[in-house]
Amino acid sequence: MRCRLPLPEAVLRHRIDWTNTLVVASFHLLALLALVPAFFSWSGVILCVAGIYVFGTLGMNLCYHRLLTHRGFKCSPRVEHTLAIIGLCCYQDTPARWVAAHRQHHEHADRQPDPHTPLVSFFWSHVGWLLVENRDLSQLSNWERYVRDILRDPFYKALERNNRQAKILLASAALFFLAGFVPVLATGGTLSDAATLGASLLIWGVFVRTVIVWHITWSVNSVTHLWGYRNYATDEGSRNNLLIGFLSNGEGWHNNHHADQRSARHGHRWWELDVTYLTLRAMVALGLARDIAMPISQRVAQRQANPPQQ
Ligand SMILES: [Zn+2]
Ligand SMILES: [Zn+2]
Repeated sequence: MRCRLPLPEAVLRHRIDWTNTLVVASFHLLALLALVPAFFSWSGVILCVAGIYVFGTLGMNLCYHRLLTHRGFKCSPRVEHTLAIIGLCCYQDTPARWVAAHRQHHEHADRQPDPHTPLVSFFWSHVGWLLVENRDLSQLSNWERYVRDILRDPFYKALERNNRQAKILLASAALFFLAGFVPVLATGGTLSDAATLGASLLIWGVFVRTVIVWHITWSVNSVTHLWGYRNYATDEGSRNNLLIGFLSNGEGWHNNHHADQRSARHGHRWWELDVTYLTLRAMVALGLARDIAMPISQRVAQRQANPPQQ
């Protein structure tokens, strides 16, 4: 076990980030409403399970992480921006802010000033780092350093202004409610039945799904820097974790990822199932993506099998 680290110096431990704290606490409480029998519906459960894939895998893994942070493949601006809006609906902040924190993590992984290393504590790396202010993550100078490429695109710049993020999140939550409310009313149901199904889709499709996707993403920061096996002797504590690897659709092969950050394929061995990468292959087949960055080891093996002609 490596030695413990203090909090990053830029963290203001007594300055609570009230927006994050209230959103995290209220979503966990609202997700508990799923235990109320009146709010159970199979359509809600299906929306939740499908949403974990659509929002978690397409929005976070594919877009925020492998595309925007590491540029592991290319696609048209229309596809990229659509995926970014899907990612935004995971309540994990705007693309620019998420990418800045993640690039800082890679630059200083498990050293100062890594924003969420578990060498401070498990709780800190899992969620604690989101609940207090960190000057590194809020200062404009840091954005200039880590996400100049992202903010060059007016689309991402606009997401930082005028509470646009909040408006999109509210609109998406309203859509889930209306998807249950309107059909019941339109088919002659009562107002109470319509509101109950609307609430069910909102609870399962937004609150439960968001909390599950949060804990999956957060586990990549916490669990996969503590427990698992290592394929590569990297200079930080990243691990490949079987449970998180499968649950996260590929993000849990985190030691592979730290060893070869640009590669859009995180599963390097045959048992390291990487559904996010398989999705990317399907997108390439459909003409929605191109130029996938493959693991260095695979590129070297291919080069050895087919040496360039002299
Ligand atoms: Zn990464
Ligand atoms: Zn990491």
